[in-house]
Amino acid sequence: MADRQNLALVGIGKIAVDQHVPALAASPDWQLAATVSRAGTVDGVEVFTSMETMLEARPDITTVSLAIPPVPRFAYAQAALRAGRHVMLEKPPGATLAEVHALRALAAEQGVTLYTTWHSRMAHAVAPAKAWLAGKTITRAHITWREDVRKWHPGQDWVFEPGGMGVFDPGINALSILTEILPAPVHLQSAELEFPANRQTPIAARLHFSGNVTADFDWRQTGPQTWDMEFDTTAGPMALRMGGNVLEIGGQPSQGENTIMDEYPALYARMAELVAAGRSEVDLAPMVHVADALTLGKRIVTDAFHF
Ligand code: NAP
Repeated sequence: MADRQNLALVGIGKIAVDQHVPALAASPDWQLAATVSRAGTVDGVEVFTSMETMLEARPDITTVSLAIPPVPRFAYAQAALRAGRHVMLEKPPGATLAEVHALRALAAEQGVTLYTTWHSRMAHAVAPAKAWLAGKTITRAHITWREDVRKWHPGQDWVFEPGGMGVFDPGINALSILTEILPAPVHLQSAELEFPANRQTPIAARLHFSGNVTADFDWRQTGPQTWDMEFDTTAGPMALRMGGNVLEIGGQPSQGENTIMDEYPALYARMAELVAAGRSEVDLAPMVHVADALTLGKRIVTDAFHF
């Protein structure tokens, strides 16, 4: 592991601890050389409380990975790109589409890599599902993405603040898979959004797309969680279950799962490839559907929500 490049991880919160730190510890490409955190630490890793100080003090750090919520992320990404560092963004890549366009332009100007990650696209059965759907005609598709916000975002009020996206924070994972595997793009036609009376973002959403594609996102599901995508095609049914990890063809489990790496190791491997190739990867397709749902959606007020 002698040739690992130094990387700084910004925001030592739930996803950093659950996924980024273990993925980096096992990475053949990256050395976690510093963190930027207001409160967290990673054993044995230098911590900075200010991004500017880190960028100035550690010119050896080539790459910055941002695992903070979308609203504060732009300023951090901009600072890193201006300092000539490659940048990797958690999903969703920003609070707005325009700020991600601005980051893409800045990365190009600076000659560095910008990678808008979509971790669910790296789930084990996504590539085989895409291969199976290629060239087939889809007659109907339905997504059910129902989970418990208290389990996955304990006490995280930012998800219900403007820019936090509410139930689209997990729902965008399903949309990232959908936009990856569909043989032809779809667009949103209508939506119903349920807003808790005391919150700024929806806790549930029902989406209707062109091509007979629908989605049901709900953050109030306790007990078993559901992350399913079902497709009817002229060649029979196909389903992706467990958040893109299990493939079913014709109602039977398929042996098609062929991705060797887990989601976050695969994201860091992809970042290393992009940096080596001198390229950026910026895909806003999942976020366009969320923006459209927030533009077109009919607002329904529902019960107040408290963590
Ligand atoms: P989180 O734990 O609430 O926040 C992550 C960290 O970001 C915080 O611990 C804090 O780190 C920093 N932070 C929070 N607010 C900030 C602010 N206003 N300014 C600067 N830094 C701030 O959130 P998370 O669940 O890890 O989610 C972070 C991102 O990862 C989101 O975009 C989310 O969609 C994505 N994600 C989350 C999950 C999940 O299961 N939770 C899964 C996949 C992806 P410091 O205390 O170190 O400063």
